Amino acid sequence: MSIYETIGIFDPQDVLPYSRIGCPSVKKFKIKNRVYSVKMNKRQYRLFDSNSTCVSCGIKGNLMLLKVGKYWKVKDYFFNLYAKDANCQLILMTQDHIVSRHKGGSNSVHNLQTMCEICNRIKGNSHRTPKEVNIIRKKKIIEKYMAKRVD
Ligand SMILES: [Zn+2]
Repeated sequence: MSIYETIGIFDPQDVLPYSRIGCPSVKKFKIKNRVYSVKMNKRQYRLFDSNSTCVSCGIKGNLMLLKVGKYWKVKDYFFNLYAKDANCQLILMTQDHIVSRHKGGSNSVHNLQTMCEICNRIKGNSHRTPKEVNIIRKKKIIEKYMAKRVD
């Protein structure tokens, strides 16, 4: 079982550039008087460094939360990128495989794109383009609105 806890909030600009090729693989981040060592050589951070905006709906990731995962007794520190939507809800930004892993898509950066979790869920394992995902998402919002309406 693992439990995740948020321990700090950062500006993406103070985090993501340290994931670039040539940077040390671990970077220390200070929160209050404590220093946390975070592994930075992750493909996901590099993707967000090059594009932090959902390719489908266009929401921009602008908050980086430092999390600690306690897996058994080992602590693992990592960042998640979030966007704040119009209702101030946090939306997790994810890396989407353009051709899904399911269908033989590779893990290479050329097969990855930034998507918010809502669009990514709509895309699923399909080959839908970002535009198609956005159309489906808008239809769902309209359907939800219509279902709520009582005339
Ligand atoms: Zn999106």
